[in-house]
Amino acid sequence: MPSSSPLLAFRDVSRSFTVRQGVLGRVRGEVRAVDGVSLTVRRGETLGLVGESGCGKSTLARMAVRLLPPTQGDILFDGESLLAKDGKRDARWYSRRLQMVFQDPFSSLNPRLRVGASIGEPLLTAGMGWEEWRARVSDMLRRVGLQADHAERYPHEFSGGQRQRIAIARALATHPELVVCDEAVSALDASVQAQVLNLLKDVQAEFGLTYLFISHDLSVVGYMSDRVAVMYLGRIVEEAPRDALFRAAAHPYTQALLAAAPAHDPARRQARAFLPGELPSPFAPPAGCAFHPRCPHVMPRCRTDLPPLRERADGHQVRCHLYDA
Ligand code: SF4
Repeated sequence: MPSSSPLLAFRDVSRSFTVRQGVLGRVRGEVRAVDGVSLTVRRGETLGLVGESGCGKSTLARMAVRLLPPTQGDILFDGESLLAKDGKRDARWYSRRLQMVFQDPFSSLNPRLRVGASIGEPLLTAGMGWEEWRARVSDMLRRVGLQADHAERYPHEFSGGQRQRIAIARALATHPELVVCDEAVSALDASVQAQVLNLLKDVQAEFGLTYLFISHDLSVVGYMSDRVAVMYLGRIVEEAPRDALFRAAAHPYTQALLAAAPAHDPARRQARAFLPGELPSPFAPPAGCAFHPRCPHVMPRCRTDLPPLRERADGHQVRCHLYDA
C-alpha cells in the first residue's frame, strides 16, 4: 500500500545540453531537455512517466540515479539532496538504495561477465562477503524465475526476456528502496512484456519497492502505475492518480495519447488523427504552450503565454489555458 511520504522528489529540475557540430566542434546551440520539473514519487507507489521519445523522460531518469547532474534545481531522496552526495561512501549509499533497469538488457549487462558476476557486482560495491554474495545471487536468480546455475552462463546464452529478468535481478540485488525502470519492456515482444511487467509487480509486493516507471506506452504505464505524469518537450503537462487520468484526462496531449493507445478500437483510431506532426525540435521549442502547433483547441494566447501547472481536482494537475478560468 503506497504511503503519502515522499521518497524521491525533483524540485524545479532542469537539464540543458550544449550541442556541437563539425570537426571543430562549433557550438550549434543549447537544448533544454528537462525544464523546471517538480515531481514527487511516494514511498511504495509506482509513479508512471509517459511521453513521446525525445520528451526528456530518460534524461529525468538518469538524473534520478545520478548518471547526470541537473543544471538547475535539486533532487531529494528520503529528504536528503542527491547533489550533496559525492565520493566512494556516498556511491555505496545510493547504489544500495537506488537502482535502475534500462531498456536494452544486452547493453546494460557486460557480455564478458558471467551472469552471476553481473548480478553480484553492486553487492561487491556494497562490501558484501563471499558466502553471503553467492547466496544472494542464487536467491535473486530464483526470484526472477531463473535457476541458480544460470549464474555460470553468459548474457548471450539467454533470450531477450530472460536477459531483462537478469537485469531486474541485478537491480534488486542490493535490496534497493527505489527502482527507476526506463522503457524496461519496450524492447520485448508483447507476450514477454506481460511476463516481465507481472514480475516487476510481484517483486514490488515482495520487497516493498517504489518505482519510477518510464515508458512511451500509456497502456503499459496505466497497467503498472498508481499515479501518472505526462511529459511533453521537457515539461510536465498533466499529473493525476491513474484512474482519474484514464477516466477524465484534461490536457489535449494526454487525450491524444489515450486515443492512440488501443489502436484496435476504430473509434479511437479516428481520434488519433487529431495529433498531427512530430514532436517539435527541442532546439527551437514553440513559444507559449509547446503543444500549440499540434493542438486542436489552440487559442491566440496559447502561442505566447506558457500555461502554469494548475490543480484541477485533488492530486490532478494540468498545464493548459483551457482551464484558466
Ligand atoms: Fe492546447 Fe492551448 Fe491547452 Fe496548449 S494551452 S494544450 S495549445 S489549449
